[in-house]
Amino acid sequence: MRYRAGLLALSMLAPASASAVADDSHWRLFIADHAAPEVRAIEFESGREAGTFDIEGQASLVASKSGRTVFAVQGDVGIVSVIDTGIRLEDHGDHQDLQVSEPRLLESTMRGEKPAHLVEHDRRIALFHDGDGRVDLLTEEAARGSGDAARSIVADAPHHGLAVPMGENVLLSVSNNGEAGRPRAIKVVDAAGRQVGELQDCPGLHGIAASGGTVAIGCSPGVLLARSGTDGPSFELLDYPADFPEGSTSTLRGGVAFRYFLGNYGRDAVTIITPDEDEKFRLVRLDTRRVDFAVDPIRSRNAYILTEDGALHLLNVLSGRIEKSIKLTEPYSMDGHWRDPRPRLAVAGDAVVVTDPRKGLVRVVEIEAFKEVRTIPVKGVPVGIVAAGASGIVH
Ligand code: ZN
Ligand code: ZN
Repeated sequence: MRYRAGLLALSMLAPASASAVADDSHWRLFIADHAAPEVRAIEFESGREAGTFDIEGQASLVASKSGRTVFAVQGDVGIVSVIDTGIRLEDHGDHQDLQVSEPRLLESTMRGEKPAHLVEHDRRIALFHDGDGRVDLLTEEAARGSGDAARSIVADAPHHGLAVPMGENVLLSVSNNGEAGRPRAIKVVDAAGRQVGELQDCPGLHGIAASGGTVAIGCSPGVLLARSGTDGPSFELLDYPADFPEGSTSTLRGGVAFRYFLGNYGRDAVTIITPDEDEKFRLVRLDTRRVDFAVDPIRSRNAYILTEDGALHLLNVLSGRIEKSIKLTEPYSMDGHWRDPRPRLAVAGDAVVVTDPRKGLVRVVEIEAFKEVRTIPVKGVPVGIVAAGASGIVH
């Protein structure tokens, strides 16, 4: 957590070494406001505001895998705004250079009827519009305003759906007989827009994550896995174990260094899903209801869970045990409207960052010590948070 600027300055001052280089990392937090149509960029190390971007509605934020882009999905007003994080890694063959510039709101936007789930997989983005069932497929570059235009496919009917690019194909949700709510199945659509193979049942479909080349999708009876193959994707529905309590998974996160998924299960548990193990599901019960959770992209055994009593928990996904818990905020009850402002979390390098909307703060928890080390004041009512950052060489 020490800032590396000192190291960088030292190496630039060292006259004897012409090829002085320094490892550097730079993290920025992007925060959606609960009330105002605004996204703020905050420098993680200094806490300085790096920009406030006026958008059109309440946004949910999605960071691209490259860390270069943050998408602000504003379902109510039918627009996705695109923010350049200003953090970029440039490939120099045997190493990568870190390039940092000011974050900015790009002119490029995506418009449509009620955009909701935005999924990036296999180097493409699929944006599903619940209002008319249209799916825009495009690259990150295209979303940023350069490169090929978006291609669109259309679901059977408007619904709260999703689409997942998979190689040349797209996994596309199928409505529950035309109902506007959750879909009932997945179909595979090829590059020409034709259905290939059979429908895959997934009643109550909601939530998707990828891990180690496998895609997992939440369904009422279990989790549907999709794996890519030479003949297109193959599917397997993992049923929840018979001894699990009533519940299902509707939000999923994917492990990074090994293949696993972390899903919600009911309101006061999570499930660790390991498709390659004999025991596919493990249930982790929480003392109170869950507010948000994330997996650690670097420390691959770690996941973090926020609960409504204001506690942050460190879950070891190998042992299935909650190893540490700290009280972080005052309680934020899950009673009331799902849109009420509640904390959200993200992982930024060596820290977990948690919004505290009532206090107008981001709380910074150092992972190693697992304690709050500082707070960052944020204007307005901070809710949604994503972190964008990278480590590279500066020379
Ligand atoms: Zn270089
Ligand atoms: Zn949803």
